[in-house]
Amino acid sequence: MSLTGLSGFCTLQAEGGTEMATQTVLRTVSSAPKKKLVRRAAPDRSQRIRHTAQWAFMALNVWIGVQFYIWVRYFERGGHGLYLPRPAGVEGWLPIAGLMNTKYFFSTGHVPLMHPAAMFLFMAFVLMSLLLKKAFCSWLCPVGTISEQLWKAGRRIFGRNLQLPRWADIPLRGLKYLLLGLFAYVIGVMSADALEGFMYTPYGVVADVKMLNFFRDISMAAAIVLIVFVFLSLLVKNFWCRYLCPYGALMGLASLFSPVKIRRDPEACIDCAKCAHACPAGMPVDRLIQVRSLECSACMECVAACPAENALQLALPPRRSAATSAGRWAKRSAGPLIVAAVLAYIFFGMVLLGRATSRWQTNIPRDMYMHLVPHANQVTHPGM
Ligand code: SF4
Ligand code: SF4
Repeated sequence: MSLTGLSGFCTLQAEGGTEMATQTVLRTVSSAPKKKLVRRAAPDRSQRIRHTAQWAFMALNVWIGVQFYIWVRYFERGGHGLYLPRPAGVEGWLPIAGLMNTKYFFSTGHVPLMHPAAMFLFMAFVLMSLLLKKAFCSWLCPVGTISEQLWKAGRRIFGRNLQLPRWADIPLRGLKYLLLGLFAYVIGVMSADALEGFMYTPYGVVADVKMLNFFRDISMAAAIVLIVFVFLSLLVKNFWCRYLCPYGALMGLASLFSPVKIRRDPEACIDCAKCAHACPAGMPVDRLIQVRSLECSACMECVAACPAENALQLALPPRRSAATSAGRWAKRSAGPLIVAAVLAYIFFGMVLLGRATSRWQTNIPRDMYMHLVPHANQVTHPGM
């Protein structure tokens, strides 16, 4: 690699206390001659493909929500009216049940009978993060999609988004890890028997119905909190995801093991900083060789903004021995179609695995649902 115009390597501590890795950066000399731009041959399609994946997953979730609502109403009407089977996919919205059941599975070797789809989906989403950074957050998660639309709407309304100062941003980013740690601790100290026992309490059985009721019969306090979150999400990019989502925190920790990362080739890069300006996570992409941050969601906005051929990509480590930039990245880059295909493969693969093992659906006698669903609001947490 040519070091012309570069003063050498240095290692900077990664931004923020929550980031575990150090990032290797190149310090450029201000007097360095301007590098020649070799324009990208093909137009970028990453954002079109990503948005298609986001809205397709959103549509799937809306359909699951409608089907689940119809199922709940059937039992609330005492077994009258339209009936649709309960969609097991609704358990994707029970991440705590997913974590509990995953622990149960690894402790006992048995697939849990209550909310098994929560476990399959939880494993699928963690696997995505292990392979493709936090791609689940920016490619699939409906909350991530809404968050993205909100900050983009905020930028249109107010002309810009707010960036919190580092002294506020860094501790706030730690909140989601605190929440994750709390859940992990509570579940971590529970035995397999206790986990199973919890799942079979009335609260565990109708956890999904209670979640629906939370939004259907939302209290004034919860509505105010929700409105505040929406407002903050208009102002600050991905407010919920960046500061409060424990699921995103878990995905971030898993993403540390991802072999693909956003990687910059300093020889092809012209130091225009367009990538850094485009990054919704505020990453200094233009000064990094690879983005190891827990906040990187593999959204590829930086890649889309980059004008230079082979300068920036989501990729495996480059071939150091290759002389040309094209050679370094040949068959190393994970383009948007590959990302979409891997996500779809993992998602549908896990669903098929659950179905193939006949452990996808929760099997509860109809009478129990008839008894519990209409009274879900009266069912309290067993610890209360
Ligand atoms: S570094 Fe690139 S892929 Fe990662 S969050 Fe920023 S824009 Fe998205
Ligand atoms: S967008 Fe970033 S990676 Fe691409 S040329 Fe500009 S500074 Fe380099």
